[in-house]
Amino acid sequence: QAKSAGRGTMLQVEPGLIQQLQRNAFVCHQLDQAIRDEQLFFHYQPKFAALSRLPVSAEALLRWQLDGQFISPGIFIPLAEQSHLMAQLDRLVIKQACRQIRTWLDKGWQVMPISINLSARHLVDDSTIAYIFEKVGEFDVPAQLLEIEVTEYSLIEDETHTAENMHRLIKAGIGIAIDDYGTGHSNLATVLSLPVQNLKIDQSFIRKGMSNAKGRAILENILQLAKSLQVTTTAEGVETEEQLAFLQASGCEYIQGYLLSKPLPLAEFEGLLNSHNRHADASG
Ligand code: C2E
Ligand code: MG
Ligand code: MG
Ligand code: MG
Repeated sequence: QAKSAGRGTMLQVEPGLIQQLQRNAFVCHQLDQAIRDEQLFFHYQPKFAALSRLPVSAEALLRWQLDGQFISPGIFIPLAEQSHLMAQLDRLVIKQACRQIRTWLDKGWQVMPISINLSARHLVDDSTIAYIFEKVGEFDVPAQLLEIEVTEYSLIEDETHTAENMHRLIKAGIGIAIDDYGTGHSNLATVLSLPVQNLKIDQSFIRKGMSNAKGRAILENILQLAKSLQVTTTAEGVETEEQLAFLQASGCEYIQGYLLSKPLPLAEFEGLLNSHNRHADASG
């Protein structure tokens, strides 16, 4: 028992905390290895036009299997962010997405645009932007097949410089979406004044929007303001027909969520791409 604060307090770390730290260090080490060995892979969640319910694009969501155990990005992304691994992870995501798009194109398939998630910090970082252009060039990816999702947190850091980099990407034809809108505290007008093409509204807003009149009014206003500034809108986490009907009526253009599709493993997503291709062939 330590009587004085000082040396004694160092020893009084709870065993649970030590275990947690050891586990985090272990997972970081494994993640570092997994990034090097490219053991992370994507599932693809289609995005649908709200009115027609047809798939128009897909979001690449990172998956990691460690010793047969599945680790959610909700766990390893924050860990990577706290350690030095996020920049490497972003690069892996950029490279894998470009390579996958190239593979599909080489098969002669019509490919829908693929969105990737980049960590909040990196649109301000010139070397990440350079890396995107490098990989788009290396794999000869048509820029309009690539979209980048960033959360509004990325806008806090250096807004002017972030906006410049967004301009560079958009000028090249790469899309930019704001992800999880509504979970931060950014002013909507500020977000929409940036060079973004798509506003993805967080699923918590979709829920609130359904639960009471206030929530609905707020959601309708977001959709209207986005539309008047020519920013398209995507509702995330749409799980019910009731939500979809409301979003259709309020002019939301795109939806994503378990109602129409969960994130799909590669083979299943390729099945969807193929039936989409056959459909396009038959009608075109
Ligand atoms: P996000 O980008 O907002 O992705 C949407 C998350 O919601 C995904 O979780 C998806 O599986 C889940 N989701 C989709 N529809 C529904 C629905 O109807 N109901 C519910 N309850 N959930 C739904 P996931 O795949 O676990 O990813 C979680 C977060 O991890 C992502 O949120 C994103 O912020 C991050 N993440 C995933 N992949 C990457 C990546 O490659 N790089 C970075 N930096 N972050 C990533
Ligand atoms: Mg996303
Ligand atoms: Mg999101
Ligand atoms: Mg979200």
